[in-house]
Amino acid sequence: MDYNKALLDFIDRSPVNFWAIENMRKELEAHGAVKLTECEKWELQRGKMYYVTRNGSALIAFRIPEGETTGFQIMASHCDSPTFRIKSNAEICVEQNYVKLNVEKYGGMLCESWLDIPLSVAGRVMVRGADGVIESRLVCVDRDLLIIPRLAIHMNREANDGVKINVQRDMLPLFSGDAEDAKDGFLQLIAEECGVDAEQILDTELYLYNRVKGTVFGRNREFIASGRLDDLQCAYASLQGFLTAGQGDGIAVHCVYDNEEVGSGTKQGAASTLLSDVLHRINTALGGAEEDYHRLVRCGFMVSADNAHAVHPNYTDKADPTSRPYVNGGIVIKYSANQKYTTDAVSGAIFRELCRIADVPLQVFHNRSDMAGGSTLGNISGAQVPINTVDIGLPQLSMHSAYETAGAKDTEYLIRAAQTLFAASVTDLGDGNYRIR
Ligand code: ZN
Repeated sequence: MDYNKALLDFIDRSPVNFWAIENMRKELEAHGAVKLTECEKWELQRGKMYYVTRNGSALIAFRIPEGETTGFQIMASHCDSPTFRIKSNAEICVEQNYVKLNVEKYGGMLCESWLDIPLSVAGRVMVRGADGVIESRLVCVDRDLLIIPRLAIHMNREANDGVKINVQRDMLPLFSGDAEDAKDGFLQLIAEECGVDAEQILDTELYLYNRVKGTVFGRNREFIASGRLDDLQCAYASLQGFLTAGQGDGIAVHCVYDNEEVGSGTKQGAASTLLSDVLHRINTALGGAEEDYHRLVRCGFMVSADNAHAVHPNYTDKADPTSRPYVNGGIVIKYSANQKYTTDAVSGAIFRELCRIADVPLQVFHNRSDMAGGSTLGNISGAQVPINTVDIGLPQLSMHSAYETAGAKDTEYLIRAAQTLFAASVTDLGDGNYRIR
C-alpha cells in the first residue's frame, strides 16, 4: 500500500475540519462501522464497530471485543488546521475595480505562507429547508477562486528584512474584478454551490484552503509536502491503524477532536466531555456500572498524536541540544516538565514497549529551555478522562505553514504503532506496575 499517496489524497479531499470528518465517516462505513448519534439511545453489541460524530467536526469510532473487555485503548488527534475564516458581509469593494473578502485568523498560522498561492473556500452552510428543517450542507468550492497578492518589492524595499503582517490589512483575498459582486457576490456563489437561493442561507462557517496539491519530493522521494499535515497525518494514520488492527481484549477507540488550534475549549474539542461522554455510554450500553467505567479508564491507555517539530536544516540551533528528532527518524515522544505535554515516565515507558513490539523507531522531543514551544491536546483531554496518556507526533518542518513538509517513511510507522496499540491491552496492576498484552 502506498501510504503517502493515500495520505495526500485524503488531505486533498479534506480542505477543512468538516470534510476530514466526512471522509473518515465514509471510510468507516465502508468498513462496516455502524453510525450512532448522540440524540438516540445506544444499543451496542459485542464484536461490532461503531462511530459517532459531534458537530460534524469531531468523531469517535470504537470496536468492542467479543469477550470481557480489559480497558480503553485510545488514539486521539485533531482535524482542524490554522486557516482564515470568512467574516459575515465579507465583500469589500475597492475603488470600483476590485472586490476582496474580509477574513479573520483561525489559529496561529505563518501568515506569509498564504500569500500568492491559489486559494478557495470550504466549510459548512446552514440552509432553511422544507417543513421547518434547518439543513447542514458541506461546501467545497473546487476551483482556484482567490489569491492574497503580496505588495511588490519596489513598493516595500524592506520586504526581505522581515515584515510585520497586519491580518486586517495584509491578508484579505482578491475575489472579483466586478464591483457588482460587492453586493452579495460571495454569498450568491456559495448559494449556487449549495444549489439553493441565497435567501435560504441562514448562516455559514467558511474557511480559506490552500489549493496547492500535496507532493512527494527529494532526491530519493524521501519527503512529503502538503497543507494540513498537522494534524491530518496523525488522524489518517490513527484511522488506518484502527481499521487494520487485530482484535485485542481492549475497546479500540479512534478519537478525532476539533478546535485544537484555538485551545480545544469547545463542545467538540479536547477540553469537552466528548470522549468522557462516549466512553461512559459504551460502558453503560454494555451493562457496566459506574465502577466498571473507572476500571476501564484506569486499565486503558491513550496516545495523543499531534505532529512534532523536527530539527530544521537551516536552523539547527532552534532545536534542543540533546533531543534532536529528524523527519523519517520515526515517531517522536514529546516531553515537557511543565506538562504542556502529558508524557510521564509511565506513559513514556508503555509507549516505548508498544513501539518495540510494533518494530517502529522512536525519537524524543523537548523544547529548548529558552523557548516556550507549543501545546497539544493530551493534557487537556486528560483533565476529562484521566487515563495514562503519552504525547507523541510525527516529525515535520514548517509547522502551521500553508504548505508543510514531513517524512515519507513516518506515516507508516504511526499506522503500525496504532495497530499495536489498538490490539493490545495495558493493565494497571495497581502497585505502580503495568502489564502489556
Ligand atoms: Zn496539531
